[in-house]
Amino acid sequence: MKTVVIGSGIVGMFSAYYLTEKGRKVTILEKEEGPAGASIGNAGMIVPSHFTPLAAPGVMGQALKWMLKPDSPFALHPTMDMNFLRWGLKFIGASRKKDLAEKSKFLYELNLESRKLYEEFIQKEKIEVGFQPRGLIMLCKTEKGLNHEKILAEQSWELGMKADILTKQEAEKLNGGLELDILGGVYYPNDAFLTPGLLLSNLEIILKNRGVEFIKNIKKIQFSSENNEITSLQADEHTINDANEYVIAAGMGSVSLAKSLGVSLPMISGKGYSVTMKDVTPRPEICGILTEARVAYTPMVNGVRFGGTMELGGKLDRVNKKRLSGIFKSIPRYFPDYKNLAFEQEEVWSGLRPCTPDGLPIIGRLAPYKNAYLNTGHAMMGLSLGPVSGKRLAGMVGTSTKS
Ligand SMILES: Cc1cc2nc3c(=O)[nH]c(=O)nc-3n(C[C@H](O)[C@H](O)[C@H](O)COP(=O)(O)OP(=O)(O)OC[C@H]3O[C@@H](n4cnc5c(N)ncnc54)[C@H](O)[C@@H]3O)c2cc1C
Repeated sequence: MKTVVIGSGIVGMFSAYYLTEKGRKVTILEKEEGPAGASIGNAGMIVPSHFTPLAAPGVMGQALKWMLKPDSPFALHPTMDMNFLRWGLKFIGASRKKDLAEKSKFLYELNLESRKLYEEFIQKEKIEVGFQPRGLIMLCKTEKGLNHEKILAEQSWELGMKADILTKQEAEKLNGGLELDILGGVYYPNDAFLTPGLLLSNLEIILKNRGVEFIKNIKKIQFSSENNEITSLQADEHTINDANEYVIAAGMGSVSLAKSLGVSLPMISGKGYSVTMKDVTPRPEICGILTEARVAYTPMVNGVRFGGTMELGGKLDRVNKKRLSGIFKSIPRYFPDYKNLAFEQEEVWSGLRPCTPDGLPIIGRLAPYKNAYLNTGHAMMGLSLGPVSGKRLAGMVGTSTKS
């Protein structure tokens, strides 16, 4: 039995990994020379602590305030596109309190399972991906920020997750003595972090050793179908007509692929930036978030990565310098030792998070097709949820009627 996976980001690679565990032959189609989406430059955090979906009560009011500030961590680039308008309406609907507790529990359990799968995967494959099960710390400068984080900590206790409220001194100790200009913080010991580039390169080696075929630099994919079943696929000069199933796991690229099959996906991009600073001393010892600035920092194998912003509807080819300077300016406000780091001279990476209106990923069959599947929409949690999404998707694949 053969499955084609489109996209070699974290979600596509883990889909392929668990499909091969089931004994499937897999071909991966990738638009670029290597993974080129959000998976490479993200903050590398594995986050059971991030159980609040993007669409949550209060988010609209906060977003409106941020929109008035050009260097804030949030922006909206509205278009008159029907997909964007539909997404916006659904997002507003999903931001109500109604089923927040249910969604939070779902995301928490999904992230927790994924974290366990990461440990199993790393042990089984004996690979070095910079995995550090040291937890994540939310650093707060203001009373308001700290109070908000304390409320979230209480919610996490209700879910059964450990969260410790910290003084400034306790936060500094956890971060290896690095001086912090903060009021306090909240520590989530069950979170973890890794180096995404290392993870992806190792995944590719593991998959190739399992016989997975990679076809790269594919510019155009065309599906042929009959009676709601995909019968073949043309990827540039490559014809694939012996596959049983087709999985679209192409991040934001999934929207146009689904559209070519006549399906409109409710997904828009949430653009973010990161820079990886090679020589940072002293180095932080765990990853964390500068709460008020919404900037993430992660000590990785190749340096310390700082990242942030959520530009909904943002295009990949435009770098918003004001928003970038918002990230850079915020860092020394929390870490006085970093006031001389030359962030502006570093190469800036940007990526598009695939965002659904309810903040939940889409994993499952792409109706009406009997043998097409989707694994996308992971927004801010694709690295964290990669293994569990891949495993669940692989569990669903195989109901094809084609033999
Ligand atoms: C600044 C930033 C920080 C983040 N930090 C974190 C974090 O700490 N933890 C976390 O869990 N998540 C984080 N995320 C989110 C995470 O990066 C994404 O959710 C995740 O990368 C999505 O993975 P993906 O495989 O679905 O998509 P992508 O990584 O975008 O991969 C899609 C792949 O499909 C390919 N592709 C696209 N179209 C086609 C096509 N037509 N044909 C063939 N191939 C195609 C692309 O080239 C790409 O290689 C962050 C995101 C950003 C932007």
